[in-house]
Amino acid sequence: MNWIKIETLDEKRIELDGETLRDLDNDLRGNLLKTGDEGYDEARKGWNGMIDRKPALILQASGPADVIKAVNFIREHRLKSSIRAGGHNVSGAAIADQGMVIDVSRMRSVHINPEEKTAVVESGALLGDLDHETVPFGLAAPVGVVSQTGVAGLTLHGGVGWLTRKHGLSIDNLKSIEVVTPEGNLIKASAENHPDLFWALRGGGGNFGVVTAFEFNLHPVESPLAAIITIYPMDKAERVMNFVREYMAEAPDDLMLITEYARVPEMPEIAEEEHGKPALIVAGCYSGPQDKAEEITSPLRTVVEPIADLSHNLPWIEIQQIFDEDYPEGKLYYWKSIYLDSISDEVFALLEKYTRSQPSPDTTTDIWFLGGYVERVPKEETAFFNRHHPYMVGIEANWEDSADSEANISWVRELHGELEKLPGGGRYLNFPGDLDERELVLRAAYGDNLERLKKIKAKYDPDNIMPGLLNIS
Ligand SMILES: Cc1cc2nc3c(=O)[nH]c(=O)nc-3n(C[C@H](O)[C@H](O)[C@H](O)COP(=O)(O)OP(=O)(O)OC[C@H]3O[C@@H](n4cnc5c(N)ncnc54)[C@H](O)[C@@H]3O)c2cc1C
Repeated sequence: MNWIKIETLDEKRIELDGETLRDLDNDLRGNLLKTGDEGYDEARKGWNGMIDRKPALILQASGPADVIKAVNFIREHRLKSSIRAGGHNVSGAAIADQGMVIDVSRMRSVHINPEEKTAVVESGALLGDLDHETVPFGLAAPVGVVSQTGVAGLTLHGGVGWLTRKHGLSIDNLKSIEVVTPEGNLIKASAENHPDLFWALRGGGGNFGVVTAFEFNLHPVESPLAAIITIYPMDKAERVMNFVREYMAEAPDDLMLITEYARVPEMPEIAEEEHGKPALIVAGCYSGPQDKAEEITSPLRTVVEPIADLSHNLPWIEIQQIFDEDYPEGKLYYWKSIYLDSISDEVFALLEKYTRSQPSPDTTTDIWFLGGYVERVPKEETAFFNRHHPYMVGIEANWEDSADSEANISWVRELHGELEKLPGGGRYLNFPGDLDERELVLRAAYGDNLERLKKIKAKYDPDNIMPGLLNIS
């Protein structure tokens, strides 16, 4: 193996000789890749086509032993590093440019204990891997709504999906987390064992080590479940949103809803003359008693005459894949988020105006209706802080041509700037936007929990070798 140049934590470039690399490689069951190696170009890609980074080394771990070796290696050589699981975070933080990537994406096993209703999930698993194993037992873990997303990044920064109002964030459903600490020790953190680390990992992400496995509590789900997808014309959006807001204020936690300011999708079920027009999409899932499903969901599907109502009863595994097609790998994405304390006519007018002028027809601005279980968990229970806002807005610019990047990014930032003037604030790190204003984003994401997080970071990672998505130092 030839020598390489690689960046250190102090932003210096050092050489690692062939023997050092060979020794590491020989010690692994997984792969060690560098520029020019077969598989390197595939391994350095994230899901977001905007990200084009060239790590000096990618260590594809096959299990915790490889992860320990990787962590020891980056510590001993003081290397700039990153951790990659599903590779879905829009920021591209999973790929350290000129540094070393600890890649867990091959560790995808999921083991279910049907009696205890728990799942042990290796940290490279995708949501679809997890759902595939839980479904035969009529069980589910509360994760996100697109099946190709990585369990690890999603969970470590919160995790919202169709069961959020009923069972909480993904982190609220963790029993334990197995992690290789920056010192190279494998620890199982839980409420009883290293409770400070367990607290910090639930929201604090990759700042405290490389997670190798999660233990989730699972919940019974009926199948099929009622999925709502109703597309309303944009000129009725304000009226529909006023109804939805009042309805959700009284709705059971079994009902989870996302409203999308978007364009009418080009689907054969929808009249062709409607395709591409600005629209409001009401998307939801009702996971309560199925004999109540029609009564609970029909008011949301009939507020005014819809352009199309594609609502169906679907098996859980299909509900988890409803949006998959909309997010192909390699497309260009820039997403930013903010929480709101209320949604008023002012918000609806703003979102309508921006949707009408959005540079890309594939872009959506989504309002996630939170509350329920999420806000009943005290803010100091986990590192994740922003539980008290009833709404989260994800501004998701999605486009094809890099010539349009500037227009799309500016559009997101401008709309985000307008929303920042309204009551609310904060940042959801799974839709993070710009991370360069580190102190500001840290405060927005962790609020009053930040000081405690910093102390735990100093205890477990005194030399700050684990940068996380956003470095808590
Ligand atoms: C199409 C799409 C749909 C999405 N839908 C949802 C949704 O419904 N709900 C939701 O909440 N979010 C959603 N997200 C956001 C998603 O949760 C984040 O992008 C998340 O970070 C993805 O996790 P990953 O493992 O794929 O990320 P990666 O990009 O691999 O990792 C992101 C960061 O997480 C940390 N990390 C990853 N693995 C580990 C590990 N093993 N140990 C320690 N730290 C680690 C690292 O700091 C890394 O930089 C979606 C994203 C996309 C692209």
